[in-house]
Amino acid sequence: MAKLFFRYAAMNAGKSTALLQVAHNYEERGHRVRIFTARLDDRYGRGFVTSRLGPQREAEQFDASTDFLALIGQGEAGPGIACILIDEAQFLTKHQVQQLHEMAHLRNLPAICYGLRTDFQGELFPGSATLLALADEMDEMKTICDCGRKATMNMRVDAANRKVTEGAQVEIGGNARYRSVCGRCFRQG
Ligand SMILES: [Zn+2]
Repeated sequence: MAKLFFRYAAMNAGKSTALLQVAHNYEERGHRVRIFTARLDDRYGRGFVTSRLGPQREAEQFDASTDFLALIGQGEAGPGIACILIDEAQFLTKHQVQQLHEMAHLRNLPAICYGLRTDFQGELFPGSATLLALADEMDEMKTICDCGRKATMNMRVDAANRKVTEGAQVEIGGNARYRSVCGRCFRQG
């Protein structure tokens, strides 16, 4: 039976790279995938999943109004669709994660969701919270803090590289900067 996967990590752990690799693996075997990434502002442009190693490819965009059940269609996954791949999955709504869970278990369509676990204040994103609750399999992708420990947190910093503790969970159109840090460095600021 298909599963709902959540592969989470701090920023810059290579989530988008991993997603593109999985897409490639499916397509190499003649399967089709559908790739989604978050639309973070009101512009209806094209979305891209971009690997810091170079490759990028176009993706469909989702926002809070996206109905995955309607988009993917009824019944089995649609002709040749083998998997749904979602980047920036922390921005899914609770309902959307429930839909993906339903599609995995009632329609045999797996979904692999890549995203952050927590925001710059150490709080779960709504999408991540529901993925932690419903995912059939979870993997933590590893990245390293400047101090050498495993980075698990996302620290927002200002232009002078000082920790920022107040502000919106998502800074739309802002120029927020982030560092992936370990718990110790996160608390020390
Ligand atoms: Zn550290």
